[in-house]
Amino acid sequence: MEIRIQGLTKHYVSEGKTVKALDNVDLTIPANTIFTLLGPSGCGKTTLLRCIVGLETPDDGEISIGGEIVWSKARGIAVPTEKRGLGMVFQTYAIWPHMSVFDNVAYPLQIRGESKDEIKRKVAQTLRFVQLEGVENRSATKLSGGQQQRVALARALVAEPKVILFDEPLSNLDAKLREETRKELRSFMGSLGITAVYVTHDRVEALALSDSIAVMQAGHIVEIGSPQKIYFDADHRYVADFIGRANLIAARVVGQDGDLTLVESGLGPIASQHRSLPTGSEVTLCIRPEFIRIDGSSQAGAGRNAISGTIESLEFIGEVYEAQIRVGNERLLARIDPDIPVKEGDTVSVNLNPAHCLLVSA
Ligand code: ATP
Repeated sequence: MEIRIQGLTKHYVSEGKTVKALDNVDLTIPANTIFTLLGPSGCGKTTLLRCIVGLETPDDGEISIGGEIVWSKARGIAVPTEKRGLGMVFQTYAIWPHMSVFDNVAYPLQIRGESKDEIKRKVAQTLRFVQLEGVENRSATKLSGGQQQRVALARALVAEPKVILFDEPLSNLDAKLREETRKELRSFMGSLGITAVYVTHDRVEALALSDSIAVMQAGHIVEIGSPQKIYFDADHRYVADFIGRANLIAARVVGQDGDLTLVESGLGPIASQHRSLPTGSEVTLCIRPEFIRIDGSSQAGAGRNAISGTIESLEFIGEVYEAQIRVGNERLLARIDPDIPVKEGDTVSVNLNPAHCLLVSA
């Protein structure tokens, strides 16, 4: 089901100060996608999710789910949470410790007054789906963190919601379990084909899980796109910087050359991805460390974007070395293959593929 949000605004007053948690947010979340709200702490992700759920009352705007308006200031509509047809999975598993796995998952159906046979059938089916068969009678707290999170997911799914909402559901798990549970979640959600709204500040989680990501800043949505679009082809400097490590260098457009845009920057003249920008536009050149190619020769290579730099520092981090390379007044962070024989102080040839020289807002 599609979720449509128009002009959503929410203020909080805390210790005499007004905080604009949501500032006139317009957003359409397409049906049957995993849609992630991503941004730093305090940018308004949880507030937006809680407004969709109905746990928070906005100051203004409208929210509709599957074409039905569930909240509207202008029309005076406020559908209560339990009537919005949503499932929720939160950071704290919120499972009941004194209940068995079965009773935890059965709870939403019992509240609805469904028959015992129907509850048994639906709980069994959902536990099979989240691969928790055989632990029905175990106390929910006697499960691993990952299993407890699957119980929480089963409880959200058992009532067959139209939309499922996740608020940082993996953040209490250790790194390895988080990665495993993330993969499971992606596969569960893929086979269900329902709309999921997922809140996180973890960029890798957002990239790995989502069909679409909205990057937020201070109560606004800055940019929306697929993980690939956001990572490789962001429009905004803030988004390019937030989603991954990036060298960000001030630049000015000096012309176009076929499908490349030419800029002048602290690295010298650089051919970059195409942007329809007039000559003289101030931009930011964004180059991710993994796309900087180094060879040990002290001469700048031939061809486009071949420049010369000096290795200021080299740090071994496992699969690669991380290098700080001085080029004129700029310093580039690069990842260097351990097979390339370089050391601190060496002059190296640096090659930048124009396709990976992104131009984002200044
Ligand atoms: P986090 O990742 O830390 O959960 P978030 O992006 O989800 O952050 P919100 O929790 O939505 O951000 O908060 C947005 C802003 O509103 C923040 O400045 C926060 O301090 C403020 N805020 C949230 N809830 C309240 C509240 N109940 N009372 C006062 N201010 C609040």
